[in-house]
Amino acid sequence: MRKKQHRATATKDHGASNATPPRRPEKPFHLVLLGAPGVGKGTQAQLICERLGTCHLSTGDLLRAAEGRLHDGRNPALEAALDSMHRGELVPDATVLDLVRERVRSLHCAGGFLLDGFPRTVAQAEALANLLHKEKIRLTAVLDYELPLAKVIARLGGRRICQACNAVFHVSARPSRVAGLCDHCGGSLHQRDDDRPEAIRTRMKVYEQSTRPLINYYAQRGVLITVSAAGGLEEIYQRGLVALNGLFPKRS
Ligand code: AMP
Repeated sequence: MRKKQHRATATKDHGASNATPPRRPEKPFHLVLLGAPGVGKGTQAQLICERLGTCHLSTGDLLRAAEGRLHDGRNPALEAALDSMHRGELVPDATVLDLVRERVRSLHCAGGFLLDGFPRTVAQAEALANLLHKEKIRLTAVLDYELPLAKVIARLGGRRICQACNAVFHVSARPSRVAGLCDHCGGSLHQRDDDRPEAIRTRMKVYEQSTRPLINYYAQRGVLITVSAAGGLEEIYQRGLVALNGLFPKRS
């Protein structure tokens, strides 16, 4: 079973519940979140999903959950993919697309969906476009979270994750009350292999080469919204909601 995700609960004290509710009750949101590793997409995804009632599909979480079930060495392709993940490289498109297709029902969630960490290559974006076309679904928007590289590296290097419940902390920006222990469940905090310096460098290079081109890809299709990922979680969250509200101005 997948571990419970606590990214959003770790942020509840920040007043996210006061955020302006988005207007679009008649149609579900179909969203993609883009941004370099470390901009805080995962946390924003959780907050937005809580507010909009959208289903959250994170390919990184799916891969980590698959790893938890891999004990018997019977899936060498997946094992090789997970080794790539630990080095900070991208997992092959085919592996990721299989994981997404297995969850195609999530695309039909009544509250809509939010894709986090997918697509990460133009080939994945094309495959997603085909899948959505087949399922007769249109993307509402692609939110691209932007942050200067030096800040991204500082955020990733200080990130610590609870081994038991996946809550996310940061050594300086969001420290746990007791060093090394989770505020929620007392589990021990660890650094993800791919948050170590060598892997961070690889991930940033991979992002520049493979994922950044998606900004143009979606801008050309008229669905891109750029959101600054500077500042606190609540500030970023509010910016995202304001941007979504801007898509559907009030009719007078
Ligand atoms: P994330 O939690 O989104 O930062 O993803 C962690 C790692 O999982 C990435 O650095 C990649 O190795 C792998 N991964 C997640 N999503 C994808 C994707 N869409 N395509 C390829 N690799 C992915």
